[in-house]
Amino acid sequence: MKKIRLLYESVRLVWSGTPGWTTANVIVSVLRGFLPLILLFLLKKLIDIITEGVTSGEDLAMPSLILYILAVVIVFLIDEFSAEAGNYIRKKQSYYLEKYMYSLLHSKATSLDLINFENPSYFDKLSRAVREATWRPNNIVNNLVALFRSIISLLLMAGLLFTLNWWLAAILIAVNIPGIWLRLHYASVLYNFRKEQTPEERKAAYFNWLLTGDRPSREMRLFGLGNFFRSLFMKSFSKQKEEEIKIIRTRTGIDALSTLVKAGALFLMLSIVADQTLKGNITLGSMAILVLAFRQGLVYLKDVLGSVAGLYEDSLFTGDIFDFLNLREMITTEEPAESISPLRHEIKVEDVSFTYPGSIIPALDNVKLTISKGEIVALVGPNGSGKSTLVKIICRLYDPDNGKILFDGKNIRNFNPEKYRRQFSVLFQDFMLYNLTAGENILLGDADSPPAIEKIKEAAITTGIHTLIESLPHGYDTSIGPLFDDSRELSWGEWQKIALARTLYRDASVYVLDEPSSALDSASEFEIFSSLREIVRGRTVLLISHRLTNVRLADRIIVLDHGRVVENGSHEELMAAGGIYQQMFTRQKSMLGDE
Ligand code: ADP
Ligand code: MG
Repeated sequence: MKKIRLLYESVRLVWSGTPGWTTANVIVSVLRGFLPLILLFLLKKLIDIITEGVTSGEDLAMPSLILYILAVVIVFLIDEFSAEAGNYIRKKQSYYLEKYMYSLLHSKATSLDLINFENPSYFDKLSRAVREATWRPNNIVNNLVALFRSIISLLLMAGLLFTLNWWLAAILIAVNIPGIWLRLHYASVLYNFRKEQTPEERKAAYFNWLLTGDRPSREMRLFGLGNFFRSLFMKSFSKQKEEEIKIIRTRTGIDALSTLVKAGALFLMLSIVADQTLKGNITLGSMAILVLAFRQGLVYLKDVLGSVAGLYEDSLFTGDIFDFLNLREMITTEEPAESISPLRHEIKVEDVSFTYPGSIIPALDNVKLTISKGEIVALVGPNGSGKSTLVKIICRLYDPDNGKILFDGKNIRNFNPEKYRRQFSVLFQDFMLYNLTAGENILLGDADSPPAIEKIKEAAITTGIHTLIESLPHGYDTSIGPLFDDSRELSWGEWQKIALARTLYRDASVYVLDEPSSALDSASEFEIFSSLREIVRGRTVLLISHRLTNVRLADRIIVLDHGRVVENGSHEELMAAGGIYQQMFTRQKSMLGDE
């Protein structure tokens, strides 16, 4: 029952994707279902007229014969043309459907809660959906259409056989019963197998990327990792393929057996028909038709079974597609909905705790803090103390397990998440490099608004990357990144400056900078931090940095340790308190030497 529903859902999906081409596809296919019968009928007429002429020895009625011959040729032509046209229509239809499915998949993948990415079974679902989604639903429609057409042809053939010889029709049906069971059985065996193998497949794809990708290429060579990963790849790959081939081998063997049964039926049928014809019980024309109809009938039956088995298999796989498309977003606007406006007073983090799925230690443990409008607040703490996690929670990329975040006194769960995120501009610790032009890389900070060239330059000047970009062959229009021809690769620090420019280009009321200078040389770093206040022009800033000399300029410093706020105050206050901050600061200072 569930399978029928899946089939129905798939047909609906295809229908909403490409109604016009689907209709055309159905019409052409169904029309083609009638052609074989017409052809057989004409052939029978032709043969009967000829035999009559031969046996009676009279002059053949040439004109009527020619007419039939012409008719046969025309039907033949229609059949061929409609086959070609059908191919074209199917191609066109699947092109539109693929577009439609990709847009569904992509919009789902980009809007789903980030937390899904913490979950391996999400990736399994995603990769199965991506593998199947663009073609399975269409396959269902094509299978349904083919099924419909074969059934029409089959019924017509069986009807024809039935009028001539009913038990031939019965044999035709009987010999195919083992085949259908076999196909259904193996469809589910293969499906279960593939489902089990998804993690293995992803592993193989990952090793393949390590061996062929751009980013891993340096370490692959330097550490000589080629053989190591090649053997890992081969292990995953073989494990997955050899099993599958084993299953297919068994299926092929049994398939061959069922073909033998059919051959036996053919033998029986031919002997009986030959005998009957010799005895004069049936005409030559009828004999020809019986033989052809039986043979064609077998073909159509095979088609019907093929379509049924195909549909069954499709329904198994489309389950995955709908599982993925129906994944629910949990991060939504909760009632009562509030409208958002730029920060006026403060962001308050109240008793927030958060544990990553699959982890037992909380990344954030009862975090309380307040960031007032216009303040520059620095967040410091050892690796793994929860700084980046807090940033993601404040931007509502994750919802905390406990506690809440108030933005100007309103719970951020009551805002539309997209509109809420528009209030922020974040330089993530693991920011993205886009293989686009330099200008576009900055523009992406606010891709929805029309590009403002002057603002792009201004952002680039602020982060000290303008001169470099100007010196590129096409200035801001030069492609950067390693991926494409005639694009320039940049150093990591240069990328970071571009990412910072992207963050500043966005007109947000709160800036979050997660280790914005980790890859910058000290001159660039000094340049940026000494003018940070002018750069942000009174906007609110949450700054994460390990270089405590930069942190000193903040209005307030919050120290996180093991997911808890352990200190909170100005540089002077924390130095006087003599806690973790004072220790960290003194240690760094002695390492760097006195300034
Ligand atoms: P920080 O930015 O202060 O270095 P994070 O916020 O990145 O620390 O990490 C806090 C803790 O959460 C760490 O113990 C880290 O191992 C864990 N953690 C971070 N990201 C993930 C993740 N995606 N899945 C599971 N655990 C994570
Ligand atoms: Mg971090």
